[in-house]
Amino acid sequence: MAGPCFLGIDIGSLTVKAVVLDAGRNLLARGVQPAGYGGQEAALSLVERLLAERHLSADDVVYSVVTGYGRVRFTDADEEVSEISCDARGVFHLCPRARTVIDIGGQDSKAIRLDASGRVVDFAMNDKCAAGTGRFLEVMAAALGVPVATVGDLALQSQHPVEISSTCTVFAESEVVSHIARGAARQDVAAGVHRAIAARVLGLAGRVGLEPQVVLVGGVAQNKGVVAALQRGAGEITVPEDPQVVGALGAALYAAQKGGR
Ligand code: ADP
Repeated sequence: MAGPCFLGIDIGSLTVKAVVLDAGRNLLARGVQPAGYGGQEAALSLVERLLAERHLSADDVVYSVVTGYGRVRFTDADEEVSEISCDARGVFHLCPRARTVIDIGGQDSKAIRLDASGRVVDFAMNDKCAAGTGRFLEVMAAALGVPVATVGDLALQSQHPVEISSTCTVFAESEVVSHIARGAARQDVAAGVHRAIAARVLGLAGRVGLEPQVVLVGGVAQNKGVVAALQRGAGEITVPEDPQVVGALGAALYAAQKGGR
């Protein structure tokens, strides 16, 4: 199947994401792959794979937008748009009642306030400290000896979460190691870790206010332990399907708009 299409690419610190939309803004393809070194080559190979999956070629791409941490060095897109704008666009498309967006990625976290028409009216960002990001979970999952993809499920089994008081990832890891050495149950330590990241993220989100509907996106939104820990402090949280590609979806929607559709 060939035809005009629009491409959104999100080059993150750990993964690259891409979304292809048709002229009616329907989803043709989406994908995620590890960023490798810098993300540039990974982004190109992901796009090539997604287009080939739908029997499309680069000539079918009417307009492309790149976002994410690696966007500045990526020279193969028509335009770059900030992650804040793309997250807002992608979330509002999927959840028109969204007023607060929380995005937890591999090395940063963001909170965005939207108005009723989906415009960004405020945002806060943490890209200076690993606590409150996927990196924190990666370090703690390694200390607990479980994959990061299942550490959230482990946390959900806890009856008596331990308390992790350090706000710094390095000190929090020492706390985790001493809880393990003292014989605390693995799931209780995992739950403590998830409460700690939730406290950090809610502190950030508090800077823009937690007006409902609150929508969580980014790779960490796939972690059910994080969702549960955030809900303890913030009430109902919505996670769209495939939350990791929502920024790339926003970029593709910008591409469709800029490309004249
Ligand atoms: P970035 O955009 O910075 O590259 P992502 O939004 O892709 O980051 O998020 C990466 C993070 O998502 C990882 O650090 C990990 O904590 C989390 N993650 C990725 N895949 C899964 C999964 N299957 N289950 C739970 N968490 C995941």
